[in-house]
Amino acid sequence: MFANDSLKITAKPKEINITGIGASPGISIGKAYVVDNEGVDVVERYDIAPDHLVDEINRFKTAVKKTHGELQTLIDSSQEKFDGHRPILQTHQALIKDKMLYGRTIETIEKEKVNAEWALKKVVNNLKSMFKQMDDPYLRERAADVTQVVERILLNLVGSKAINIADIDQRVILVARWLSPAETSQINLERIKGFITAQGGVASHTAIIARTLQIPAVLGASAATKVIQHDDLIIVDGLRGVVVVHPTDETIAKYKDIHDRYHQFMSQIARDSSSEARTADGTNVRIMANIEQPEEVVAVKNHGGDGIGLYRTEFQYMNRTTFPTEDELFEKYRDVVEVMAPKPVAIRTLDINGDKAINTVQEVVEANPALGLRGIRYCLQRPDIFSTQLRAILRAAAYGEVRLLLPMISIRREIDEAQRLLDKAAEDLAAKGERFNRDIKIGIMIEVPAVAIIADIMADKVDFFSIGTNDLIQYTLAIDRGNQEVAHLYHPLHPAVLRLLKRITEVATENKIEVYMCGEMAGDLIYLPVLLGLGINELSMTPKAIPAVKGFIRSLNVDEAKAVTDEVFSLSSAIEIRRLIYERYGDRLSRMMVPTSIH
Ligand code: PEP
Ligand code: MG
Repeated sequence: MFANDSLKITAKPKEINITGIGASPGISIGKAYVVDNEGVDVVERYDIAPDHLVDEINRFKTAVKKTHGELQTLIDSSQEKFDGHRPILQTHQALIKDKMLYGRTIETIEKEKVNAEWALKKVVNNLKSMFKQMDDPYLRERAADVTQVVERILLNLVGSKAINIADIDQRVILVARWLSPAETSQINLERIKGFITAQGGVASHTAIIARTLQIPAVLGASAATKVIQHDDLIIVDGLRGVVVVHPTDETIAKYKDIHDRYHQFMSQIARDSSSEARTADGTNVRIMANIEQPEEVVAVKNHGGDGIGLYRTEFQYMNRTTFPTEDELFEKYRDVVEVMAPKPVAIRTLDINGDKAINTVQEVVEANPALGLRGIRYCLQRPDIFSTQLRAILRAAAYGEVRLLLPMISIRREIDEAQRLLDKAAEDLAAKGERFNRDIKIGIMIEVPAVAIIADIMADKVDFFSIGTNDLIQYTLAIDRGNQEVAHLYHPLHPAVLRLLKRITEVATENKIEVYMCGEMAGDLIYLPVLLGLGINELSMTPKAIPAVKGFIRSLNVDEAKAVTDEVFSLSSAIEIRRLIYERYGDRLSRMMVPTSIH
């Protein structure tokens, strides 16, 4: 009996495999760090006996004090990696001691004889609706700060630990229900060697940032937060989208081997990445990079990028309480443009909202944010914010080749309006005697299926199209790109998607305008034969993907790709198309370490 009991205690836990979505390739083995961001959504109400009211108020005061201390630690250790993070924390600190929040919560506990969580939620809900009705946009925007600060206090009240990702000081693998793009961008690469989320799809911005950071990640592993405990030994297999919990020695050895082979392969292909990507039959394909932060130009250069095909500028608006100034933006853009010159840099104008909400505009609660006030729609509603950015872009354009890229366009008038504001921005700069360049190429993202359909109506308005497959697929197939429940239906090779791509490329050729692709589809090897077959010869992707894409392109032949693409259009499902690609390119894909099994 004793022997059995001690056996039970010392027995190694059983190995568990959890499947999710391989969002960022690579293997990581290490201890789990579980971020408890669950548990405060539902707050229950219960009565407090009159003689316990003082204790309840003290419980609230202790949670507030603790939150204040946590914020102070964060402020002291803030690395200023993302401008403006410190002022947000200071605002939060001031807010928690505000009479409207602190005093009223205590009053509510006393008057209604209710628990502190309930009182706090009640006060906050009133406060948030008050903020939202305010005329001053700055005050309206404070509603978002109130929400964040209250979440922290609530976590302390219910006894969980509020975690600031930037503050984790161990070499760990992060496990969370969800990480927002803004949170992911705060990951400290020296500390966090991989992450797993229970939610999220392969084309979500969180996945995109994971690839940019080159950190192995599995998303949409719904069992992860239930099964994995703090400090559990786990393996993140970002190549196959698998998480192994309590791996056996044999599994660890197997993964160490895959890890080593993957790294060997990556360094081998990196050797040729600065040379051009020329197919076996002599067609040059420009391989560009997508970046979110100016510092990433280093990775673009190191990986041999032929330019920047997509600079997602919205990240400079995140993790801060005020909008950036023209000078701030200009300096960031100029840095990138100068480093890349004479290679082109496509600066995409602010594409916020959708899944990229930012603190400064969170006052609008949208039932369907992906279909809401996103990208150009937001910018045209806020010409002040938009014009500041346009002036910064025109100034940066004096330092190299800049292309201007407009996101979420759905009608011609949006292009006209943007052009008008661009002219006005140029006039204002001229009046101030600033150095700038108005002579830049202007293109639109093709992300809305309607625009793919009316590409012929749009073509005369622009110099180029850039296909944003992440959104184009989401909107065409009605699949939320960030939702793991429908991730199995997110198929870049769906015949409807391919028909739209064909239409866009044909219209571009007829109208003699350039057609590029900057969605995630462009950086995934299995799609390359079809993209070449369709005649797209500028592809933009996360910098780390560049060497493999260049390597694979060198093994391709355009005529063969065209013939396979013709065949693809006779097939009726994504699975059949994928099967055909594996059949024709399986060997070459396996040599590039791409798993080629259909599941
Ligand atoms: C896209 O939609 O494909 C795209 C590149 O834009 P984002 O991923 O930033 O929405
Ligand atoms: Mg998009």
